[in-house]
Amino acid sequence: MPTTDAAPAPEPPLDCPLCPRLVAYRARNRAEHPDWWNGPAPSFGDPDARLLVVGLAPGRAGANRTGRPFTGDFAGVLLYETLIKTGFARGTYEARPDDGLRLVDCMITNAVRCAPPGNKPEAIEESACRPFLAARIAALPRLRVIVTLGDVARRNVLKALGLKASAGPSGHGARLDAGAYALINSYHCSRLNTNTGRLTPAMFEQVFERARRELAAG
Ligand code: SF4
Repeated sequence: MPTTDAAPAPEPPLDCPLCPRLVAYRARNRAEHPDWWNGPAPSFGDPDARLLVVGLAPGRAGANRTGRPFTGDFAGVLLYETLIKTGFARGTYEARPDDGLRLVDCMITNAVRCAPPGNKPEAIEESACRPFLAARIAALPRLRVIVTLGDVARRNVLKALGLKASAGPSGHGARLDAGAYALINSYHCSRLNTNTGRLTPAMFEQVFERARRELAAG
């Protein structure tokens, strides 16, 4: 669906002013690390993607540093390796935006585009950033499957689609038909979840194999 003059663009401007706490955090990070990206992390991937992966928010020393979602922090290793394994990415993930990795039929974005202190966005920040998520979804003409990484991403995608945050089942592997889209939820591929065994590489791979089956089913 094309955006209109009244609708937000799918990608926020580098100096998006909408969340004062995150803008102040961004300014502190810029002062400490002027060589980092330090702005809203843009979505990465195929503009014709049928699969959208939605994370929580950039990590301070991950996407906030490198400018590419899930690039440079622990979570990115499992995510990109799994995408390569399941055919949604090609190349080698080397934790830097110029590693040549290419997403195939897939795009990655975040529910909140700016790094929040402690990786914890506030509800008001989720709300402020949600129009960008809604616009991102609407701007993918072939989108069919959305994989949400964790409950914050799941809740925000549901709201971005005009549904209640409580709509449908939650938890790892939960699936919901949401209008034109199939939503599949996964535990977030965070260091905590993988180190504790809450999410194993096999469990994560199954999510993307399932997404593949959804796409094959049309
Ligand atoms: S989190 Fe989103 S809405 Fe808030 S300042 Fe960043 S880009 Fe803007």
